Amino acid sequence: MTDAFAALPSAVRGTFDTVRARDPHEPEFQQAVHEVLSAIVPVLERHPAFVEGGIVERIVEPERQIVFRVPWVDDSGRLRVNRGFRVQFSSVLGPYKGGLRFHPTVNLSIVKFLGFEQIFKNALTGQGIGGAKGGSDFDPHGKSDAEVMRFCQSFMSELYRHLGEHTDVPAGDIGVGAREIGFLFGQYRKITNRHESGMFTGKGVQWGGAEVRTEATGYGAVFFVENMLAVHGESLDGRRVAVSGSGNVATYAIDKVRQLGGIPVTASDSSGYIVDDAGIDVDLLREVKEVQRARISEYVTRRRSARFVEGARPWAVPVDIALPSATQNELDEQDAAALIASGVRAVAEGANMPSTPAAVAAFRDAGVLFGPGKAANAGGVATSALEMSQNASRQRWSFADSEDKLRSIMGDVHDAAFRAAERYGHPGDYVVGANAAGFERVAHAMLAQGVI
Ligand code: NDP
Repeated sequence: MTDAFAALPSAVRGTFDTVRARDPHEPEFQQAVHEVLSAIVPVLERHPAFVEGGIVERIVEPERQIVFRVPWVDDSGRLRVNRGFRVQFSSVLGPYKGGLRFHPTVNLSIVKFLGFEQIFKNALTGQGIGGAKGGSDFDPHGKSDAEVMRFCQSFMSELYRHLGEHTDVPAGDIGVGAREIGFLFGQYRKITNRHESGMFTGKGVQWGGAEVRTEATGYGAVFFVENMLAVHGESLDGRRVAVSGSGNVATYAIDKVRQLGGIPVTASDSSGYIVDDAGIDVDLLREVKEVQRARISEYVTRRRSARFVEGARPWAVPVDIALPSATQNELDEQDAAALIASGVRAVAEGANMPSTPAAVAAFRDAGVLFGPGKAANAGGVATSALEMSQNASRQRWSFADSEDKLRSIMGDVHDAAFRAAERYGHPGDYVVGANAAGFERVAHAMLAQGVI
């Protein structure tokens, strides 16, 4: 993270200074707190009770943080040790809810930034879910299925005591997909002797998972773009779209862009990106990434219209719409300048905090429609909440019904952010709108529930 923090108004400066003093080695967490605090000043001005109730001072401190040892044995018989995390940030609106990330870059700062974001995102969905995040510095890349299983079993052997359908409900994130969720759920079931479907979301549809949960974050991000464009009488039809990443979010964002008449022209992984002017072939992408678990360059060996650019990000490709959907801080000021120079109309964050603060400022200054992650990628967790409802009532909804619900929720999330931006005097600013709408809901609940 290279951007310096802009000065904050006095109403929130003291809290931010405390966060920096308390957590000096947590730059991503500081970045996420800074974004929220800068956006909610108008809310605090209008609601003195939030200031008197110490809402801001309380909300930046997680309710509970769990850090634990994860020992496991690799295929050669060697003992390995990773570090596990779960940060239970806020349960004021419902059980803690948020994904698990397995990636070598995971540390407490990353987990706290994700957990903090999750509080307001979950509030924005209108569902009864709190905010949390967790994970490990374990890297599933290059590991055998048996190694991944042993790691997941060891991870859950500690974490299970902190989870439960009314306590804390994890899901997937980077490096945690269907395979990992299966192993984690299996171990929880064995240890607790309970088939507690509602304690994990993103489960296989054969054993308690919900239709559309796999597709929900990517589809939802595209629905969010559809809503932003519709305000101006525009649509996705015929528009070129750059997507980064080639995992869960990116794949289904690409899929939905195609279905709605747009042309997704890029995808990426940590080795580089591909450009396919004919439009990314989703089936081939899934074959390469999900089935073969290969590098993205494999795609171009089987598709004549595509080329691979090694060691770079896709933001120099001229497009109308950009959907950063890989990881945090993957789109910086220079990338934003390149996109703006090529005439980008809308940017929606499929990933969490993929744009640096300077990039966000550049998009807002240039009048680009900008959907921040806590609104644009809320479709995943919203569909997780639908999965919890189905588990609780032992119902199953069809794919078409579930997708209709997702589309309608994303319309509501868009409208909540859009209206809050207007209400607080920043029309069209979804950063202010999303943060204000999410924060308002959490703050009212915290006031009502007292100092706890
Ligand atoms: P996946 O693990 O399925 O895919 C991640 C993708 O991003 C891969 O293509 C990966 O490439 C790439 N990537 C990861 N880290 C880096 C890095 N440091 N540099 C470059 N590329 C990288 O994860 P998801 O698709 O689930 O998550 C993507 C983003 O979306 C994350 O920010 C996540 O927090 C967010 N998100 C996910 C939700 C979900 O429902 N899954 C919900 C809401 C937000 P490689 O394989 O080479 O590492």
